[in-house]
Amino acid sequence: MAQNKMLSFVHLKQAYPEKRSAQERDTDFNEIYRSFSDEQASCQASRCSQCGVPYCSAYCPLHNNIPDWLKMTAEGRLQDAYALSSATSTMPEICGRICPQDRLCEGNCVIENSGHGAVTIGSVEKYITDTAWKEGWVEPLQPITELGISVGIIGSGPAGLTAAEKLRQQGYQVHVYDRHDRAGGLLTYGIPGFKLEKDIVARRVKRLADGGVTFHTNFHVGKDASLEELRERHAAILIATGVYKARGLATPGKELNGIVDALDFLISSNRKSFGDKVEAFDNGTLDAKGKKVVVIGGGDTAMDCVRTAIRQGAESVRCLYRRDRVNMPGSAREVKNAEDEGAEFVWLSAPESFVGKDHVQSVKVRGMRLGAPDGSGRRSPEPDPARLFDMDADLVICALGFSPEDLPTLFNAPELSVTPWGTVEADPVTLQTSIEGVFAAGDIVRGASLVVWAIRDGLVASEQMHQWLATRQQDKQDAPTKAKKKAVFA
Ligand SMILES: Cc1cc2nc3c(=O)[nH]c(=O)nc-3n(C[C@H](O)[C@H](O)[C@H](O)COP(=O)(O)OP(=O)(O)OC[C@H]3O[C@@H](n4cnc5c(N)ncnc54)[C@H](O)[C@@H]3O)c2cc1C
Ligand code: SF4
Repeated sequence: MAQNKMLSFVHLKQAYPEKRSAQERDTDFNEIYRSFSDEQASCQASRCSQCGVPYCSAYCPLHNNIPDWLKMTAEGRLQDAYALSSATSTMPEICGRICPQDRLCEGNCVIENSGHGAVTIGSVEKYITDTAWKEGWVEPLQPITELGISVGIIGSGPAGLTAAEKLRQQGYQVHVYDRHDRAGGLLTYGIPGFKLEKDIVARRVKRLADGGVTFHTNFHVGKDASLEELRERHAAILIATGVYKARGLATPGKELNGIVDALDFLISSNRKSFGDKVEAFDNGTLDAKGKKVVVIGGGDTAMDCVRTAIRQGAESVRCLYRRDRVNMPGSAREVKNAEDEGAEFVWLSAPESFVGKDHVQSVKVRGMRLGAPDGSGRRSPEPDPARLFDMDADLVICALGFSPEDLPTLFNAPELSVTPWGTVEADPVTLQTSIEGVFAAGDIVRGASLVVWAIRDGLVASEQMHQWLATRQQDKQDAPTKAKKKAVFA
């Protein structure tokens, strides 16, 4: 075992030597290409001390049975490890790639807390399932029966796809509606390809389509059909539409050309990677090549914009964030990746105005300082009158987060209750909304969150929808008997 541990360090050192060529460096920063050999996976897995207090599992939203599948990997029992890891997750290879492990499983690894660096749980998880796909262990989706009952799912992100898989497995006729031309939600059009390759998402979608799930793409619920019309078509509905309204800035000059929303920038970049014609990219509007790029925001979306702009060949990339590094919402690992790639972070700074004639030429940047803690305990940023400076910019990308769209209006369903933040109000246990037979899951309930939480919600929603539909079916079957009994006792 000790020898195994030593080997793992040697291998990692060989994989990431101090001095790398430009090509090696690029490959190194495309973290998805970091793949293990069997031996490396086994070495890494064997670092798990089987501590008996699996905080890693407790802090994984899916409560994956991590210590056991690490043990199986260490023993070379990869197929068993795959069976176990896929029992609790519908897309382990995706979570392995893009979960912020430093805040979830790995951040709570006992070895990490003892100062020896966490077991790289995400990489092993990715490795196990990638191997399963390669070896043909991933079985086709097969319903256990055909129930002849139809369900509709609005949104094909991780929440919608997870629910679709589980409901189809139970034997429902599953119809997924999405306004995009490709399924996958933010897995396809938000998260950049250097973090999550698009063919990895596409093969998951194909598996569902091959198993009988019907995808209605380019179908915008609210325009192509109202919620009521969908309810007439299906016995139950799941709303899994995510959150897409970009939070804007009130900064003077915000209407200048060259100031764009993060998701427009990322979607166009993802579309180009599919080989699509994207006019706003082809005419240069959403292409960072050769530009001085300023990204505004401190979350993971901002990091994705920074890192995408670098890959597009920007002349320089700076990121403005109004708090400091410690108080940044984005993952520390992402910030480090972006810095290593050449991005500059300008902490404690916010745009005061955008300057230019028709097109943005520079940003007037106001220095900020941290004041008293707010209600959440975080210190609130406030302008520092002593610091004001100019920053050249010909592309400004705003990544300030997302809010829900106004679904009751869009869906022509005023009876759909929403919270004061616009997220859909769903029962915390059943995920049923204020409309009977209509459930909701993922970001549209939680607000902008994580893929792994959307998967968890999709699992819960499918179970609850199944229970609700089964009870309803039973009630229908019992109705004549009950009516008869009522007549006898009348
Ligand atoms: C840029 C970016 C990067 C991210 N990176 C990460 C990451 O690295 N790791 C991580 O864990 N999380 C990440 N997230 C968050 C994660 O992607 C989301 O939490 C997750 O995708 C939410 O899943 P969902 O199924 O609820 O919704 P979504 O993935 O948003 O899918 C919703 C789907 O519903 C469709 N839709 C919406 N309205 C309608 C309508 N009216 N009619 C028909 N279809 C509709 C949309 O087209 C979309 O396909 C990132 C988010 C963004 C924006
Ligand atoms: S799903 Fe995410 S949190 Fe859970 S084990 Fe995998 S990488 Fe860790």
